[in-house]
Amino acid sequence: MSGLEDLYREIILDHYRSPRNRGELPVPPAKKLEGFNPLCGDEIVLYVDVDDDAGTVSDIRIGGQGCSISQASSSMMGAAIRGKSLSEARQLIRAFKALMSIHESRLEGDADGEDRAADLEGVRLGDLEALQGVVKFPVRIKCATLAWNTLAQGLDEGNGAATS
Ligand code: ZN
Repeated sequence: MSGLEDLYREIILDHYRSPRNRGELPVPPAKKLEGFNPLCGDEIVLYVDVDDDAGTVSDIRIGGQGCSISQASSSMMGAAIRGKSLSEARQLIRAFKALMSIHESRLEGDADGEDRAADLEGVRLGDLEALQGVVKFPVRIKCATLAWNTLAQGLDEGNGAATS
């Protein structure tokens, strides 16, 4: 197990040191989305270009600053979401939030845990799985989910088909 944890730590540090898709996009057409995690002081700024005709996230750029978990998570999110369809993007958001909540809900004997596990099925999270160790440190979960919650709000804005 410790070998796996070392690998996960390497992946997180790699994204923290060399964040992907860093920068800005012209607004408009891109949407600028900002999120803040007061518990840790993490700030995230997302520039998201949605191609309404194709229904895809055509581009994403990430700014802001914060702890290694929040920055690595936003970098991984950008890499995972860029070029995906909106429905794939929402599925990834759901799956990632499920990954962050499964452990906790199982500990609490929460019956929703099984549903959340179902959200993960068939979704390839790749590097994102490196963040699952975060659930052992509940105070850091908000660091890991900050970028995802910010993106989720932005995707649902001005779009009647909001899903929870
Ligand atoms: Zn943080």
